[in-house]
Amino acid sequence: MEMRQTIPTAAGITPQAAERYWQAMLQRDAAADGSFFFAVRSTHIYCRPSCPARRPLRRNTLFFRTPQDAEKQGFRPCRRCRPKQQDASTALVQRVAAVLANAEDQPLRLGSLAKQVDSTPAQLRRAFRRATGLSPKEFEQAFRLARFKKMLRDGSSVTEGLYACGYGSSSRLYEKTNAHLGMTPASYRKGGEGMEIQYAVANTSLGKVLVGATQRGISAVYLGDNERSLVEELRKEYAKAEIVRAADGHENWLKEIVRRVEGSAPSVDLPLDVQATAFQRRVWQELQKIPRGATRTYTQVARSLGKPRSVRAVARACATNPVSIVVPCHRVIRTDGSLAGYRWGLSRKEKLLEREAASA
Ligand SMILES: [Zn+2]
Repeated sequence: MEMRQTIPTAAGITPQAAERYWQAMLQRDAAADGSFFFAVRSTHIYCRPSCPARRPLRRNTLFFRTPQDAEKQGFRPCRRCRPKQQDASTALVQRVAAVLANAEDQPLRLGSLAKQVDSTPAQLRRAFRRATGLSPKEFEQAFRLARFKKMLRDGSSVTEGLYACGYGSSSRLYEKTNAHLGMTPASYRKGGEGMEIQYAVANTSLGKVLVGATQRGISAVYLGDNERSLVEELRKEYAKAEIVRAADGHENWLKEIVRRVEGSAPSVDLPLDVQATAFQRRVWQELQKIPRGATRTYTQVARSLGKPRSVRAVARACATNPVSIVVPCHRVIRTDGSLAGYRWGLSRKEKLLEREAASA
């Protein structure tokens, strides 16, 4: 008897893609809808990834890129998930992608983008959240990634492209391009391998501040008493990065951070270039929404992430934040109002909060 336990894949779908598809369909991941279809040998039916029907055995599952491909092999569309009906959100996103492809290489306003596809900004926002998990602006930034563009040029669907670029599956939904967090989450390996970080140190009324940055953005903001131990900390955190003292450049970032340490309101947007898990990234983005002068509890942050039971994980993400001040983890406190910990010392946290409260 011939043993064929390998995963059946349709033409043009790599085993790696098939594995990703399998995971997405197990999770009934709606974000994957449109990027592929799965067909079931035993029932001759094909479905979209989010279909609520029971999952087939893996060996009975085939993957297709389009409904047409599945039908050519004799599969019929499922009546529950109606895989042939293109979801309206996906259709809208496809149209926006077409507009972006023909646009000049500069950001478009949401209003004009909406007008060009006969929609409204509110509709676009909803459609993008549904179809890609990104805001229109984040999508536009992702779109400017050369790799993503190329995939679309080569005929991948939008969702397929987002998937391959690391923006798709629900578990990595938040590992996405963002105006504040770095642009290319997938490009760094652990330890900052491949990063070149230049650092500079300045004096503040809370002691020394070290700012480490790559060409793309800020990777480290540390507070302490002693320059040498801050540099050591940087080498530990980014053990595989090349770390050098800044000859010049980045002075504006350093100045801006010193101003924020002294309690001033942000005056420029600081780009970040940090390594993070999907969850850390989500937490840090949430922390950036806490206004100056305000605080949140770990429980509140966990709740606003839709993960009320992840309070400890939130606390851990705060404790491991490498870019203090810019990601204001000092604004998170315990439910009883006590300050909890701070990587750079409790008295610094206390003073930062006092200053912000006084000037907000
Ligand atoms: Zn179905």
